[in-house]
Amino acid sequence: MNYAALRNRMVEEQLIPRGISDERVLEAFRTVERHMFIPAESRDNAYEDHPLPIGEGQTISQPYMVALMTQCLDLKGNEKILEIGTGSGYQAAILAAIVKEVYSVERVELLAKRAESALKKLGYNNVKIKVGDGTLGWKEHAPYDGIIVTAAAPKIPDAYTEQLNMGGKLVIPMGTMFSQILTVAEKKTDGIQTRDMCGCVFVPLVGKDGWKE
Ligand code: SAH
Repeated sequence: MNYAALRNRMVEEQLIPRGISDERVLEAFRTVERHMFIPAESRDNAYEDHPLPIGEGQTISQPYMVALMTQCLDLKGNEKILEIGTGSGYQAAILAAIVKEVYSVERVELLAKRAESALKKLGYNNVKIKVGDGTLGWKEHAPYDGIIVTAAAPKIPDAYTEQLNMGGKLVIPMGTMFSQILTVAEKKTDGIQTRDMCGCVFVPLVGKDGWKE
């Protein structure tokens, strides 16, 4: 398999025609080895236009959704970003390729361990992972320039608006357990301003300030 060629094709056919235009995001998608974050048996499907199972009932999102969410953060390169739901570690790697520091919280220990080892193997040394309830954010390293939530929430957990820098953006799928609207919230001096992006389907954000188990 020529994975580099598949990556270029993914960028040209799935991302650019749908409106991903941020060069930093496109470059990250050309370089980050998505197949290294996917279980061996489905590796050859890594660059296809859909989500894939990563074990423990969880999924790695469709490339376009990862790209759209990343683009919504409007990154310049020197940010500190919090991700909720490490999963495979792919979204964390995309962020790590663009920004200075990435903090990521995952509730399933096995997934966190696997993601950590994949990221380390590929040399993404600017990502720190914690096992825990991400609905509480990660207070120790706050404030963040951006927060990206890769699981579906019933509402914006209080911790996220508290741990976000002024002017920072929060990208979060919000709605029911079964379908959501990808929402971008910006923290401004006069409050939180939200914008709806598109419909989406994510696995539930399970925790104290999310869905109950
Ligand atoms: N960003 C991931 C995809 C994540 S799938 C990737 O690039 O592969 C959503 C993940 O959110 C799952 O791994 C799930 O276990 C995790 N999750 C759900 N609720 C959570 C919570 N409260 N805190 C942290 N992680 C959570």
